[in-house]
Amino acid sequence: MKGNYVLGIEGTAWNLSAAIVDEKNVVIEKTATYKPRAGGIHPREAAQHHASHITALLKNVLCYASENNITLDAVAFAQGPGLGPCLRITATAARTISLSCNIPLIGVNHCIAHIEVGIWKTEAEDPVTLYVSGANSQVLAYRGKKYRIFGETMDIGIGNALDKFARAAGLEHPGGPKIEKLARSATHYVQLPYTVKGMDFSFSGLTTACMESLKNGELLPDVCYSFQETAFAMLVEVTERAVAHTGKKEVLLAGGVGANKRLVSMLQIMCDERGIDFYAPEKRYMGDNGTMIAHLGYLQYKAGDTTPIEKSAVNPNFRPDEVTITWKHPQHRQ
Ligand code: AMP
Ligand code: MG
Repeated sequence: MKGNYVLGIEGTAWNLSAAIVDEKNVVIEKTATYKPRAGGIHPREAAQHHASHITALLKNVLCYASENNITLDAVAFAQGPGLGPCLRITATAARTISLSCNIPLIGVNHCIAHIEVGIWKTEAEDPVTLYVSGANSQVLAYRGKKYRIFGETMDIGIGNALDKFARAAGLEHPGGPKIEKLARSATHYVQLPYTVKGMDFSFSGLTTACMESLKNGELLPDVCYSFQETAFAMLVEVTERAVAHTGKKEVLLAGGVGANKRLVSMLQIMCDERGIDFYAPEKRYMGDNGTMIAHLGYLQYKAGDTTPIEKSAVNPNFRPDEVTITWKHPQHRQ
């Protein structure tokens, strides 16, 4: 088949996922999801999960490609940020495919992949992005060949904060969706600490305060509601200030917590009031997925931005603002 095809492999944390994309379409995506037996994500167990599923998963995707006469042009993998043991499994698989098929290897930044898939799958062109996932919470925008971080969490990501509180309240992992559901039957707001310092925010004190409120007799739905209202207000405030500072006319929501309807509606209200556009891709592109890695791999491949094996070591703390954007961005045309 004509066109360029890139395979992308994601496995930074709970979701092992591989996809092939071309310029416009997702050709195939296959996923194997790790579910902790108890508690939260255990890095070694998650890596064990990925190791035991990756061969079958990739076989499935590669057989589909060969049955449909699709020849891969490159293989991309998430080089970080993420859990070290998990990152190493997918990096090893990607290096193996690169060497055995003699195609370029492309290490991509997982956070930037969230942004780029959002831009690809919505009408957004040059947004301020609120990226809210399990481990990460950042407000980013493009400026001068980089995705700059305008604000970020000073401790844990909002998803992990929600999951941690949910676990303490006896709810199963992942807790975010359960908290959202319980919040709908709340009757009142419980006072909680609101922590925004400069352009950064913090969630671990909020999680502890929620646990204390439960111990003090507040009802779970009320605490869930108050947690969401407080944390999301912090995120929306910083996003709005990044919009005001950069003068951008779009906001994009990315990351697994972006599935939350209350967060979506708060961002929509802020954008409506400012007269700017709000975009959120469909849910399958919000949480971690192979398509986003394949798509960013595709952009980097077209820009000739590939990764030699000797520079393909994983980086659990890989920050998006370390990456120089080599591919076409709407601002490059200015
Ligand atoms: P990611 O790391 O981007 O795949 O996102 C995973 C995180 O998203 C987990 O912490 C989940 O609890 C959280 N999450 C998923 N759905 C929701 C939801 N509806 N509301 C809040 N958090 C959610
Ligand atoms: Mg993510």
